[in-house]
Amino acid sequence: MQNLNTKKYKNIYFDLDRTLWDFETNSEKTLQELLIEYFPEKKDQFKKLLSVYYPVNEKLWVLYRKGLVTKEVLRTKRFTESLKQLGINDTEKTIQFGNDYIKRSPYQKGLFPYAIETLEYLKTKGYRLFLLTNGFREVQVVKIAQSGIEKYFDKMICSEDAGYQKPHRKIFEYALKSVNAKKAESIMIGDDLNTDIAGAKKFGMDCIYFNTVNKKHDIAVTHEVNSLKELQGIF
Ligand SMILES: [Mg+2]
Repeated sequence: MQNLNTKKYKNIYFDLDRTLWDFETNSEKTLQELLIEYFPEKKDQFKKLLSVYYPVNEKLWVLYRKGLVTKEVLRTKRFTESLKQLGINDTEKTIQFGNDYIKRSPYQKGLFPYAIETLEYLKTKGYRLFLLTNGFREVQVVKIAQSGIEKYFDKMICSEDAGYQKPHRKIFEYALKSVNAKKAESIMIGDDLNTDIAGAKKFGMDCIYFNTVNKKHDIAVTHEVNSLKELQGIF
């Protein structure tokens, strides 16, 4: 059913990671492949690897965001620390494991349910679709090509193009200006309250919170969905 209030939109900006491209599933698939390849004797401990990797990775990301560790340290240490808990102490092989993880993850094709169907629907309806991502361009181009969604988008705007990351208002400003879009005719869809939603709101642009985990919050959003299919009811 078409909602008359949303007919004004012409431009839809999508976040990529965890909104269309299923980051967790793709990451886990890569980790499992690498574990089997690098340490086949440990392949039965994949579940354990995940249970140690997630907290270790998260802890290092926090340190990285605070500027307390470099990207290189983050990328290596998350694997040396987690694999150590599986009894793996081969540093050289672990570093290679980490490098391969970075290289291979973007080639995974996992999307959220209804991603293709919904993009197809929106495209047929005549909306201009864009990607607005904080990820690195060289990585994101691989993801959208491999997962088959590149053709739906008129343009992908990466934070490095704008020189600012979401939630900074300047990346939103850049994203509109670079495709000649009006703020009042544009809407942002994303899974992250701190970047996609906070950024759009600060900039004064409508937003849709993609809340797959039913996270509790008290932030006012234009719309909230927990499946991409619901977008077909909004647009
Ligand atoms: Mg995201």
